[in-house]
Amino acid sequence: MKVGILGAGQLSRMLALAGIPLGIEFAFYEPNPTNCVSNLGDVRHASFQDKQAFSEFVDGVDVLTYENENISLDVLDAIAAMGKTVYPGPQALAKMQDRLHEKSFLNDQGIPTATYYVIDSHEHLINLKTTLSFPAIVKKRTQGYDGRGQFVLRTVEDIDLLTDEQCQNAIVEEFVNFDREVSLVGCRDRKGNIVFYDLCENVHHDGILHYTYNKPNDPAQEKAKHYLTHVMESLGYVGVCTLEFFQKGDELIANELAPRVHNTGHWTIEGAQSSQFENHLRAILNWPLGDTTNTGEFVMYNIIGEFPDRLNLLKIPAMHIHDYQKAPREKRKIGHLTFPVNHEVMEQVASVLTIS
Ligand code: AMP
Repeated sequence: MKVGILGAGQLSRMLALAGIPLGIEFAFYEPNPTNCVSNLGDVRHASFQDKQAFSEFVDGVDVLTYENENISLDVLDAIAAMGKTVYPGPQALAKMQDRLHEKSFLNDQGIPTATYYVIDSHEHLINLKTTLSFPAIVKKRTQGYDGRGQFVLRTVEDIDLLTDEQCQNAIVEEFVNFDREVSLVGCRDRKGNIVFYDLCENVHHDGILHYTYNKPNDPAQEKAKHYLTHVMESLGYVGVCTLEFFQKGDELIANELAPRVHNTGHWTIEGAQSSQFENHLRAILNWPLGDTTNTGEFVMYNIIGEFPDRLNLLKIPAMHIHDYQKAPREKRKIGHLTFPVNHEVMEQVASVLTIS
């Protein structure tokens, strides 16, 4: 069985690392120079416009998936025209790659979001001066990730700092004064069975996930499950899907959906019987889903920019290191660590890392 993955970044890497023990082979198609998957399968670096390269790639695999929602829907159409299946399907991608479509879809499903307005120019934003509550945040509708394409408006005066370009193809959203951020990773198979992992609590710095920890039996789990079940069933979704929330009191306010394995689910590699990566593959291959029960409580800590001293980390026996084989760069996720929530381990970790 050969799975074709669009992308060759860290999510593709972790999918392959989960699938190889199950006997799955992989091929990767990547238009950029990114390569976190060397030795894990065939890698084809070519543009999606290169029809010959792409059709050879699609012909050579049994089923396809992708690691990034910022791919064109035309690519999914081309795969279907070649008689192959790609999961998650185009209906889900269309909703989840555009913040406006995503938020209106969530609201249609009865799932609350922050108050937002669609804008396409600086003038549109200026016209909202008296309607909008501050702080607010301007977000590009498409292609944004890890805080990119986002501009915080602390006060009404900050509107003057934005250019027309920054306001095009965007939404402006009111800040939610949340108590905490949480996310739920679920997986739906081709027969409609759904499994969920523990809800996670997430801490972001500058719009980038800093660390996450699973919360077994969290009181918000059931409401989050209810919402994500609704999303996946209404889209006939197949694979892993993630829903991020702001929590305020008992209220869960949806922030973002991701049609893929997710950074807040990386702890499941060591922290659950079957990881999010394995379950995504099982789902798209029409295989039975694996057990999502946790094996304990874990912290997943993102390594951003530069790798800490490896030998210091390895002095902590309970530490799991994941190096994505990416060149160091400011604000770039280049690896992650997973370690158990336990007083002794946390003290050891605090002597090596800053967790605040
Ligand atoms: P996003 O790219 O939309 O997932 O935003 C990244 C992070 O920025 C979120 O996880 C929050 O920490 C913060 N953020 C984004 N939008 C809002 C908002 N409307 N209210 C409060 N915090 C926000």
